[in-house]
Amino acid sequence: VAGLSQSFQVITVLGEGGYGCVYKVKHKYDGRIYAVKKVDLTEEADSEVKALARLDHQNIVRYITCWPDSESCTSNQDRNQVSKTSGSSSGGVTFDRAGCEENNDDDDEEDDDDDDDVSDDVTSGMESLGVTADSRTYLFIQMEFCEGGTLTEWIRARNRTNKQRTTVEIHKIFYEIVSGVEYIHSNKLIHRDLKPDNILFGTDGKVKIGDFGLVAAQTNHSGGPIERSKRRGTLQYMSPEQENKRNYDEKTDIFPLGLIWFEMLWKVSTGMERAELWQDLRNQMFPEGFCDSYPTENKFIKKMLSFTPEDRPHAKDIKEKLEKFFSLDQNLLSQKTV
Ligand code: ATP
Ligand code: MG
Ligand code: MG
Repeated sequence: VAGLSQSFQVITVLGEGGYGCVYKVKHKYDGRIYAVKKVDLTEEADSEVKALARLDHQNIVRYITCWPDSESCTSNQDRNQVSKTSGSSSGGVTFDRAGCEENNDDDDEEDDDDDDDVSDDVTSGMESLGVTADSRTYLFIQMEFCEGGTLTEWIRARNRTNKQRTTVEIHKIFYEIVSGVEYIHSNKLIHRDLKPDNILFGTDGKVKIGDFGLVAAQTNHSGGPIERSKRRGTLQYMSPEQENKRNYDEKTDIFPLGLIWFEMLWKVSTGMERAELWQDLRNQMFPEGFCDSYPTENKFIKKMLSFTPEDRPHAKDIKEKLEKFFSLDQNLLSQKTV
């Protein structure tokens, strides 16, 4: 018995991206709603799940557990650790089976062979999820379900209704985003794919940063710079150096934060107009009226959009500025966002 259907009832598909698929599911035994992301079992999946498992913060999507597609967490034959060698380029990836209740502690490496050959063990239950009996191996990542939707939806709803959100609400949300990013950076990681699609709202209305599919270490093991492989992430929000250079640090995450803050404050229409405005914005040029409406914000955003990464503030600096200039503090943050 494999995959998702043994323990979960799939309610709906929440999102389909280039790298995975996210399902809204109900756990058959604990009765609660979760999000489960199915990703190709690659090195990226390995990084994603390891980062998520390590990060524990109120503004980061909460991780529950993960498992490869042929194994079931509730199986009596579960092992503590499953070593996988996927058929593709990724090589061996080892996953700790954290969260499994019925582990068999008698781990025996020589015993692993047959059960780990996932391509032989795909059942019809998996086929309903689009997993066919080919050689692809997937990883399921179970996490908290963020019922408040994405920041993209928040921005769209605001633009559609023309409803004026108060800057207090915007700054509160943005403060939470920056708090999550500060925490990621303090863990020596870079998110690399910050954009409204990857920023979610939890049950309590709190910001939850998700999608760690492109997460990377800030430095190599000896603390030196990392030669990055290839261009990654969404071009629209990507920093100039992430687009062009093989060498960049956590300041690459600050650039999209500037764009996101702007987009929350200012209605950006779609189509040609947006393309032009966006290009200007990436060159630190704001539309008419913006600087008058937001005299303090525009200066911060401009710094965040600096072409030179060193000129951008750290997440910690932005947080402090928000506290100082907009009197944002922990009391305000404990209030519910509507
Ligand atoms: P991309 O192609 O943008 O990189 P992805 O395939 O890597 O996306 P995610 O960004 O993690 O996958 O998730 C895709 C979408 O699914 C999100 O944009 C969001 O709409 C939804 N989603 C993801 N995780 C959750 C969650 N925990 N709760 C609710 N919805 C979620
Ligand atoms: Mg995404
Ligand atoms: Mg992704």
